[in-house]
Amino acid sequence: MITAERNTGRAHVIGAGLAGLAASVELAARGYPVVLYESSQQAGGRCRSYFDSELGCRIDNGNHLLLSGNVSALAYVDLIGARDTFQPPGAAAIPFVDLADNARWTVRPAAGRIPWWLFAADRRVPGARLRDYLRALKLWRATPEDTVAGLLDARDVLYRRLWEPLAVAALNTAAADGAARLLARIVAETLGRGAAACRPMLPRDGLSESFVDPALRFLRQHGGDIRFGARLRSLDFADRRLTSLDFDGDRVTVHPDDTVILAVPASIAGRLVPGLMVPDDYAPIVNAHYRYDLPADAPRLTGIVGGTAEWVFAKPGIASVTVSAADAIVDQPAAELRDALWPDVAMVLSLPPLPVPLARIVKERRATFRATSAQEARRPVAATQWNNLHLAGDYTATGLPATIEGAIRSGVAAAFHVHQGRTPQAASSTATVTRSTAHFRDCLRTLS
Ligand SMILES: Cc1cc2nc3c(=O)[nH]c(=O)nc-3n(C[C@H](O)[C@H](O)[C@H](O)COP(=O)(O)OP(=O)(O)OC[C@H]3O[C@@H](n4cnc5c(N)ncnc54)[C@H](O)[C@@H]3O)c2cc1C
Repeated sequence: MITAERNTGRAHVIGAGLAGLAASVELAARGYPVVLYESSQQAGGRCRSYFDSELGCRIDNGNHLLLSGNVSALAYVDLIGARDTFQPPGAAAIPFVDLADNARWTVRPAAGRIPWWLFAADRRVPGARLRDYLRALKLWRATPEDTVAGLLDARDVLYRRLWEPLAVAALNTAAADGAARLLARIVAETLGRGAAACRPMLPRDGLSESFVDPALRFLRQHGGDIRFGARLRSLDFADRRLTSLDFDGDRVTVHPDDTVILAVPASIAGRLVPGLMVPDDYAPIVNAHYRYDLPADAPRLTGIVGGTAEWVFAKPGIASVTVSAADAIVDQPAAELRDALWPDVAMVLSLPPLPVPLARIVKERRATFRATSAQEARRPVAATQWNNLHLAGDYTATGLPATIEGAIRSGVAAAFHVHQGRTPQAASSTATVTRSTAHFRDCLRTLS
């Protein structure tokens, strides 16, 4: 059994997105004095909530779907004590609508890893045969160069109604370009594990309330020092070590016992770290948040095929639309997007098409790196040539596309590297450390 521990050298974590938060709480739980630096005035990075004064309510920057198969994310949620900030997990059942013919079906895997449910025609996507599903086994043999569309048969109905929407959502990349290997990993960790891994996990209030605020609380309770408005401008190196951090002229010395985790987005890491190759092609995501009181029985999440909108999330007082890999629409004016996306929502949820409700359009132009094989080849590992500098972020080589799960796994992996190189001294809470140890183990198992 691992005993509780206290460490002397500081862990400097730069970037308070989910990767940086995961690294910070993991280290704080193990007794490390953590200093977390964030350039903006709030934590959460690309996964956060805020009050929108025009809509008069809090919204998320973008809808985020977490599934019960995202083990590292849920271990993080448990570590920071935030499980009760989620809605009770729904059934593993996601309704879909094809706007071309108004066909409706529900993707509903059964319990267990062997998908016996595929033998029941009424559980399959309408028009799809068992052998169409079996073709997806090719995903498991995907080479690094295979694209989703190249590997699966882009002409069959299952592709249109399942694989393509899943690939676009999970990879934030058109299926014609998306790396099949990354999709295979997602399928293996969710659909491939049956119903238990496919329950949608949706925050009750918002992303910040579930992923960010409890982590900041946890850090403060464990002695963490959180510095907002601290933008890292440059790094100094000597020999094989990072020696100081420059925050707009405020220089922080990195003492011999200290370690640094750089958890900033890929483009910033690429600028700060000499010689670091990072993904350099990004894909946009557009979200439309409509102020609308949906009927109480509206599904919490609906997939849309054949529309401009791709997913509708039903939240209290809000109907919220996501369009991933949104290159084709991201430059359209907000008012046009508001009017163009609402008819899809109205049709799917049987609502009046007019008037179009008040809406906030959120465009994240560089939402994630594009999950192509060329970009995959540019992802760095956590370790660097400097002994005391480690990388974290959804862009690092996690084996997953840029997701909450990948970001959190990368943070835990970086924390593990720090921990491996250090000698623990004394005590924090045994329960916390035990949870943290389980988290380390789960993440490293999935990364290996
Ligand atoms: C609209 C949208 C929808 C998404 N939907 C999903 C989804 O449904 N499911 C899913 O799993 N994932 C989804 N994602 C992806 C997920 O949000 C990201 O993969 C994850 O949040 C990335 O976390 P990160 O910590 O790696 O990076 P970031 O969140 O980018 O965090 C980096 C942090 O570093 C800070 N920073 C930058 N420069 C500096 C500097 N010089 N000094 C100090 N701090 C700095 C930034 O302010 C930021 O807080 C979505 C992303 C977006 C944008």
